[in-house]
Amino acid sequence: MALMTGEEYIESIRKINMEIYMFGEKVENPVDNPILRPSLNSVRMTYDLAQDPEHQDLMTVISPFTGNRINRFMHIHQSTEDLKNKVKMQRLCGQKTAACFQRCVGMDAFNAEYSTTYEIDKKYGTNYHDNLKKFMIYCQENDLTVDGAMTDPKGDRSKAPHAQEDPDLYLRVVERRPDGIVVRGAKAHQTGICNSHEVIVMPTISMGPDDKDYAVSFAVPLDTEGLFMIIGRQSCDTRKLEGSSMDVGNSEFGGVEALVIFDDVFVPNDRIFLNGETEYAGMLVERFAGFHRQSYGGCKVGVGDVLIGAAAVAAEYNGAQKASHIKDKLIEMMHLNETLYCCGIACSSEGHATESGSYIIDLLLANVCKQNVTRFPYEIARLAEDIAGGLMVTAPSEKDLRDPKLGKYVEKYLKGVDCVSTENRLRILRLIENLTLGTAAVGYRTESMHGAGSPQAQRIMIQRQGNLEYKKQLAKAIAHIEE
Ligand code: SF4
Ligand code: FE
Repeated sequence: MALMTGEEYIESIRKINMEIYMFGEKVENPVDNPILRPSLNSVRMTYDLAQDPEHQDLMTVISPFTGNRINRFMHIHQSTEDLKNKVKMQRLCGQKTAACFQRCVGMDAFNAEYSTTYEIDKKYGTNYHDNLKKFMIYCQENDLTVDGAMTDPKGDRSKAPHAQEDPDLYLRVVERRPDGIVVRGAKAHQTGICNSHEVIVMPTISMGPDDKDYAVSFAVPLDTEGLFMIIGRQSCDTRKLEGSSMDVGNSEFGGVEALVIFDDVFVPNDRIFLNGETEYAGMLVERFAGFHRQSYGGCKVGVGDVLIGAAAVAAEYNGAQKASHIKDKLIEMMHLNETLYCCGIACSSEGHATESGSYIIDLLLANVCKQNVTRFPYEIARLAEDIAGGLMVTAPSEKDLRDPKLGKYVEKYLKGVDCVSTENRLRILRLIENLTLGTAAVGYRTESMHGAGSPQAQRIMIQRQGNLEYKKQLAKAIAHIEE
């Protein structure tokens, strides 16, 4: 099958009978729901851009498995060039949506699974790599969106999965049958889950021998019986119900997360990629997290480009663009943003082949990338708010602007430079509000902190990968210390 158009993608999601809840009610038509639709549009962009000849080289690639052209979001990286192109593609998608476009999680899950299942099979003679490949080719050929679900609720953080008071706080196998397994548990903060055709589930931490039932990885379609989603709230989410695209700031695109419940879900044998090989849980987590930490050196940079642009426009609309401190703040924002991009490109350029032949990023540099992402977008957002001024959080609504009595006062008193309408000034401020405090702040701010693992998770990896002993030897050699 050829690549889907954006419209075909939307209609393919419409056909999936997903069980989605929001505000305590079942969402009967998620595709046209005003709160959920912008997030669907963001994924749609990954299909639209792939159809655009200008972006074909970045957005698509020839599958080494089928020889067919596929969307790069479905690709298993074959070189460091592929790894770099992934980051460039993510920056492009961030620029076009100013939101989380969600499709990276599945790409990162496929790539982590591809190399890990190869190594598990080599050790245990299992069939996981073949299962994974068969599933991957099915997804490539049908141009599907696949989510990756890693984060368990985790309960008491001081206890291992098997030691929790409630045994379901990490997703686990509750029944083993000849034809497959039954799993129970939940995955939290699932970006893009309601816009996906399939989901790959992975464990969330390294595991010990007692955690056998928890070391499980598999894929199921989103309409699987027993699987349902509870949509998470976002700051200003109900503004999307008010019918003012202007007040929303970014009315077309967004991202949505959900708590996903697996209430005794059956998984057939050929969809299982890990089942009890506890020592490989850590490898899978580390590789997935590494890939997703690389991803942030692309997507957050693309969204950052939009925010920097918005701050510059806001300054122009105020007549402040020539002030030296404004210029300097914009330079600082660009410096920080490009530093993140450098990290994304660097961990890709320094990537290497895995035993399976697929390519993986340099883990140390990918973790440094994400550690910087836990900080720089906050500073970029702070500077954008500084340049925007207080009006971004005190401006009246579009209804006031359009009101026959009030409109002329809003128009008159909130005007900046003469040649720019008050409406345009308010529009750019609403975009900055959306990115820093509104629905998109989930993707640009808090996700920069916690997405792909909280800052401490990267610091542990930096400690492990940083080779401090070697650095000590270097210092002793220079200082002529003999011990
Ligand atoms: Fe992709 Fe970024 Fe969203 Fe993760 S946060 S799914 S990398 S856009
Ligand atoms: Fe993310």
